[in-house]
Amino acid sequence: MQPNPKEMKKPRIGVYVCWCGTNIAKMVDVEAVAAQVEQFPDVALSRNYKYMCSDPGQDMIIEDIKEHKLDRVVVAACSPRMHELTFRKALSNAGLNPYMFQMANIREQVSWVHVNREKATRKALSLLAGAINRIKWHESLDKRSVSINDATLIIGGGIAGLSAALEIANAGKSVYIFEKSDKLGGMLNNIDQLYPKMEMASAIIDPLIDKVTRHKNITVFTGRKPDEIFGYIGNFETYLDETRSPESTLKFGAIIVATGLKPFDPSPVEEYGFGVLPDVITSIEMESLLKSGDIRTRTGRVPKHIAIIHCVGSRNEKYHEYCSRMCCMTALKQARQIKDALPESSVYEIYADMRAIGKGGEEFYAEGFKQSNTFIMFDQKRGMPRVRESDPGELSYTR
Ligand code: SF4
Ligand code: SF4
Repeated sequence: MQPNPKEMKKPRIGVYVCWCGTNIAKMVDVEAVAAQVEQFPDVALSRNYKYMCSDPGQDMIIEDIKEHKLDRVVVAACSPRMHELTFRKALSNAGLNPYMFQMANIREQVSWVHVNREKATRKALSLLAGAINRIKWHESLDKRSVSINDATLIIGGGIAGLSAALEIANAGKSVYIFEKSDKLGGMLNNIDQLYPKMEMASAIIDPLIDKVTRHKNITVFTGRKPDEIFGYIGNFETYLDETRSPESTLKFGAIIVATGLKPFDPSPVEEYGFGVLPDVITSIEMESLLKSGDIRTRTGRVPKHIAIIHCVGSRNEKYHEYCSRMCCMTALKQARQIKDALPESSVYEIYADMRAIGKGGEEFYAEGFKQSNTFIMFDQKRGMPRVRESDPGELSYTR
């Protein structure tokens, strides 16, 4: 139940804004932020200091708590992952309940990620104002021990979920896997060979599925997703059917979300004609052709020229600005497989930047030259390559 604000004692909040040397102070006007929040109701004092986590910084908080009878403390500094415990200990040392503390992250979430000092200062002030409002609702807490359930629920039965399941189960703990499709294995079921060693994907995933399904500590639920999950860290539960009876209750203490990937839909990239030109296909569709061992166009012809376009939907501000880090290697791998299957064909790698990421990636890239594949570079900023139909059944590409 929420405490009634009228019954609450008027808080006395101490606020500390950290410079982190120049880490925060170069991008946030820490003095202005500290001065502004000092005017907030219930803020008894507000200070800024170069290194709040240092011994002098902590001593300052301890002395202020005693001298100014502070009953709540807010520190605007780095991530709570770094120093929340440090400051909680300082509160304890001053005789204050350590949970009467709140941190605002103005380093990782502000100074490190912004380039405009004015806007960064405004955001820091806003985060700090939120922390100050929140701490008014804090209540003293006591530590207590609760037993935890050491079973794990894994959502997703692909390579990540299965590998995690096996590790945990081999450590003697129970594992429940929920896989929404009717088959374990996930995306690897659709892949033919894996780079850079070119081993068959099935040689990796099939034995793993076998080990998981036979393991005495692992229970697999295929064709379903967990509906609702209740509880808290260490003690979660879900129901296996509508009856919601104790028999249908599954209990576990940890959850691993391994729900896999969703391939990018290239239809919005008009230049490539995906969805309009029938022989423009995705790399996942190409995997099916490679896996079948019968590479043909939609009209049933064996292709003589195959172009593989890189960076589709990546490294482009209209779609995703980041590099997805795996499609260069996928393209190189598929080029190699096509060349092996159709030695007379010409394969063109149309790329923006070659990022042969991972162990053995560069060597794998170099192999592409030995196979006489043609590498054509483009710059997305100067215009996308355009795919069009030239002769019926043939595609051509222009820059
Ligand atoms: S409290 Fe965090 S932000 Fe401040 S000096 Fe220490 S590490 Fe830097
Ligand atoms: S540079 Fe390579 S790995 Fe990165 S997005 Fe483009 S194709 Fe993918």
